[in-house]
Amino acid sequence: MRISLIALAISAALAAGCQTVETTKQGTVGVDRQQHMLVSEQEVEASAQKQYAQMMAEAQKKNALDRDAAQVQRVKTIVSRLVPQTVVFRPDALKWAWETHVLSSSEVNAWCMPGGKMAVYSGLIEKLQATDDELAAVMGHEISHALREHSREAISRQMATQTAVGIAGALFGVGDLGQNLGNMVADVTLNRPNSRTNETEADRIGVELAARAGYNPEAAINLWQKMAKLNSAGQPPKWLSTHPSNEDRIKDIQVYAQKVMPLYTAAKAGPSAGK
Ligand SMILES: [Zn+2]
Repeated sequence: MRISLIALAISAALAAGCQTVETTKQGTVGVDRQQHMLVSEQEVEASAQKQYAQMMAEAQKKNALDRDAAQVQRVKTIVSRLVPQTVVFRPDALKWAWETHVLSSSEVNAWCMPGGKMAVYSGLIEKLQATDDELAAVMGHEISHALREHSREAISRQMATQTAVGIAGALFGVGDLGQNLGNMVADVTLNRPNSRTNETEADRIGVELAARAGYNPEAAINLWQKMAKLNSAGQPPKWLSTHPSNEDRIKDIQVYAQKVMPLYTAAKAGPSAGK
């Protein structure tokens, strides 16, 4: 009796706040999975913005923010070519308050928070000796996670679990489990490993963004090979803990890099080529 009451309460609570969305259009690579959200895009973006501002202020205090002007310029140029391509997947992303900073750190890492708040760590650029095409592969992949709102999706999953625990707790008198959206946004974006599905989506959309921006989409293959090399040399990149790799990944990227190759060729030949 109790159990069925709980199940009923949980499904009612979830149904009330649950929304099925398609965060992006399919593009040439054809990503079309529907997603279930329990929290609004606006709430998640506002929290991300706050967290990002705090983190950048802390980096500034430690004198670790945008220290190498040439590096910053390089990263910002690449991002500024990638961002306009997001319109193919979601036109509203052009209105996001995109922001990019380079953090001085030995960590091999990069991320993009909901709403387009990005960081690239100097360790990634230096230890990988990343080319522009490879950096475009990293940032294209990160931007794709943000376009697909994978963080919002992960938070929604956590909330579903917490709601279940919370309702059960309330019924049994254990008390409510509070949640802090801001911490959750940072946690899922910076610390939690992405699912295989999320990774495949970010890989596929990422190569298309890079190709459309005039960066060789095959560089994504080199990028993952360089990451794997560092890993086997006993210097596991932090990036691999949030973007777990698998054997099939490179094969999938090879297929999709070929698929978007005509977009790359067209971008190279187009009026904005050589920028
Ligand atoms: Zn990823």
